[in-house]
Amino acid sequence: MLFRQLFDPETSTYTYLLADEDTKEAVIIDPVLEQLERDVGLIGDLGLTLKYALDTHVHADHVTANGSLRNRLGARTVLSERAGVGCADDLVKQGDVLHFGRHGLEVRETPGHTSGCLTYVTLDHAMAFTGDALLIRGCGRTDFQQGSAPMLYRSIHDKVFSLPASTLLYPGHDYRGRTVTTVDEERRWNPRLGGGRSEAEFVAIMDNLNLAYPKQIDRAVPRNQACGVDPISLAPTPSRSWAPVEIGSSGIPEIAPEWVRANLSDVTLVDVREPDELRGELAKIPEANAIALNQIPGPLADVPRDRPLVIVCRSGGRSGKAALSLVALGFTKVASMRGGMTAWRASASAGSQPP
Ligand code: FE
Repeated sequence: MLFRQLFDPETSTYTYLLADEDTKEAVIIDPVLEQLERDVGLIGDLGLTLKYALDTHVHADHVTANGSLRNRLGARTVLSERAGVGCADDLVKQGDVLHFGRHGLEVRETPGHTSGCLTYVTLDHAMAFTGDALLIRGCGRTDFQQGSAPMLYRSIHDKVFSLPASTLLYPGHDYRGRTVTTVDEERRWNPRLGGGRSEAEFVAIMDNLNLAYPKQIDRAVPRNQACGVDPISLAPTPSRSWAPVEIGSSGIPEIAPEWVRANLSDVTLVDVREPDELRGELAKIPEANAIALNQIPGPLADVPRDRPLVIVCRSGGRSGKAALSLVALGFTKVASMRGGMTAWRASASAGSQPP
């Protein structure tokens, strides 16, 4: 099984990518919105198909990337049915199994940090992903989000410490550079839950932590209840009402060169190639404004957000990136010209459309 442990330094959050090396089916656990491009890039580099985007719980310290991964890669988003959240594609419960290729993750309900906390365990019980229920030599707080210290004590003892002693435990966070622990280690050395501590001792410890109010909770919880998509401003989505735009597999709005040729006077064309490319054999469409990709939005920053924009490059890669970043800036009528200038020249010489 392919396994990657990824880290967000801002919130000390661990994200895990698991995949079947043969079928290329993958799952990601607890992705962070700010690391979306890193994770999409890695999934692409490894040639994986993201089947599930899982959250161990509704996070209070960071915004999940799950909604964005659903939009970009078509993954199904997964949360506990006890999380009280309607945005997820699959609401799972104790005993459910999420399969990816020959592998799978068994769902164990481990409430107490929040009421909807899950631990995901590989089918061979070699690895478990505990989220914030159990941390290395610690555990998640129990004073927010329907947290309950007695409930967390029972969750850890019944659902995590009951795994084999050698099971590797991967937490949702670590603030001291540690990456992994085992059931045996935490049973012995966890200062709150291990070493034979009783439930009453644990509850007393948790009652006396006097923790600060979580920094991101007011921003993160409402957004995570919507799978990370901003419920107030709503993430901008490309419109298809102004032209026969097709949304590609990575969410890029695309338009055919033939349509652009027939509607040149109704759109603003933007060529995002480098200046020296505009003088090359493919040349430039005379009507196009040259703004190199690394200059975007440049002068477009001052343009009304409903102006129809068609973005052009050599073959459609850079223009796709530019189109997505313009959508993120609030432009609604934006599309990348499919196939770029290469397709433009080919369609002109094919003579299928007027010049
Ligand atoms: Fe948490």
